[in-house]
Amino acid sequence: MTQKIRTRIAPSPTGFLHLGTARTALYSWAYARHYGGDFVLRVEDTDVARSTQDSVDQILESMHWLGLEYDEGPIYQMQRLERYKQVLDQLIAEGKAYYCYSTPEELDAVREAKKARGEKTLYDGRWRPAPGRTLPPVPEGVKPVVRFCNPPDGDVTWNDLVKGPITISNREIDDLIIARTDGIPTYNFAVVVDDWDMTISHVFRGDEHINNTPWQINMFNALGAPLPQFGHCPVILGDDGQKLSKRRGAVSVTAYEEGGYLPEAMLNYLARLGWSHGDDELFTREQLVDWFDGSHLNKSPAQWDPVKLLWVNAQYIKQADNQRLAALVAQQLVKLGITLQPDVVENHLPQLCALLKDRCDTTVVLAQWAAKFYGDVTPDATELAQHVTEAVRPAVATLKEKLSACAWDKASISAAIKEVLAIHSLKMPQLAMPVRVLVMGAAQTPSLDSVLEICGREKVIARLGVA
Ligand code: GLU
Repeated sequence: MTQKIRTRIAPSPTGFLHLGTARTALYSWAYARHYGGDFVLRVEDTDVARSTQDSVDQILESMHWLGLEYDEGPIYQMQRLERYKQVLDQLIAEGKAYYCYSTPEELDAVREAKKARGEKTLYDGRWRPAPGRTLPPVPEGVKPVVRFCNPPDGDVTWNDLVKGPITISNREIDDLIIARTDGIPTYNFAVVVDDWDMTISHVFRGDEHINNTPWQINMFNALGAPLPQFGHCPVILGDDGQKLSKRRGAVSVTAYEEGGYLPEAMLNYLARLGWSHGDDELFTREQLVDWFDGSHLNKSPAQWDPVKLLWVNAQYIKQADNQRLAALVAQQLVKLGITLQPDVVENHLPQLCALLKDRCDTTVVLAQWAAKFYGDVTPDATELAQHVTEAVRPAVATLKEKLSACAWDKASISAAIKEVLAIHSLKMPQLAMPVRVLVMGAAQTPSLDSVLEICGREKVIARLGVA
């Protein structure tokens, strides 16, 4: 019987959903979907001091926004403490884990002494039981940690789904602490019990975890649990070649949602960052699921490219339904202090989006344009001086008259403009530029008749009136 594909994402709720975690979540999700398997969400909240409900909520919100729907979860590690305790007790009873009473001071002293001798600063195994070995007397009042009896020799080898074969010697690693003095398990232990209990078949995660994997494999083996396959994705680098971090710009999914990106654009860009399907740059969710079989994952780090992301987003904005864009733009407008009535969002704003979306790469930029229609416009003094000259003012005044009287549709507005051009012997740009500056506060706009039509007679007349 072939094993059911089960993947998981296991974020720690100590902040927003990081782009790196989002990408790993995306790969795990796509892999499960491709093979008709399950995708599990687990919340690794054992770092009690740093984990918050607010972070959990943000992470779930971002997953939902990206459309990474999970089949099971969220499963909280802090609700599984009893289970970890049970497995810990079992390992201790079998002599595969042990209590260690070394104090931090003792451990520091051991480390310093080893360092001075030029040796690896690994734990000295003082409390590790062995046949025929007498352990030190248990000190009073010291709460022990629990350590895992890591095999002292041999190698741990796995065929990484992303990086290929990896071998790490057991001599490089020591007896890991698997439960703290308060009994709360550490990451490496909880993750093994969870991946085992949740029958996870494939683990995708960031390559900062490569050094943890040998311990985890040894623990799976000690428990007699089947091993999942591991795939470690390289870090994402910022445009300065350093690891993408908060100091170098936005790293959370939320920031991009707020920044006017569409979830499908983010999904497309994140997927392509570290994975490829031929030369395809734009693809749908369905295509991604169809193509994502775990091959063609890059071994080397990808570089975050904000310009490319904007390009991808622009492509999706162009294709997006105008009604949907209107709802998103309305939210962005609120941030600019403009709250529209529902019927305007429903009926008028979609027309604006249709007119403007080709020139906007985010819904924030769309909203800035929309604000020119719904809010106030203060033309720039230099632009006014340059375009709204004394010579053109009479023509603007005639246009105002014509537009006050004509029918309010694109064709009639266009006819009115042409009439004015003929009366004043002007060429289109000589009139169009000043009118754009006056009405929109910008010399570059979509076609003038459309802009004026959507702006509405009242506003156009009022804005032309200041000439
Ligand atoms: N909580 C870990 C992290 O956020 C998960 C690592 C794993 O997937 O095993 O890095």
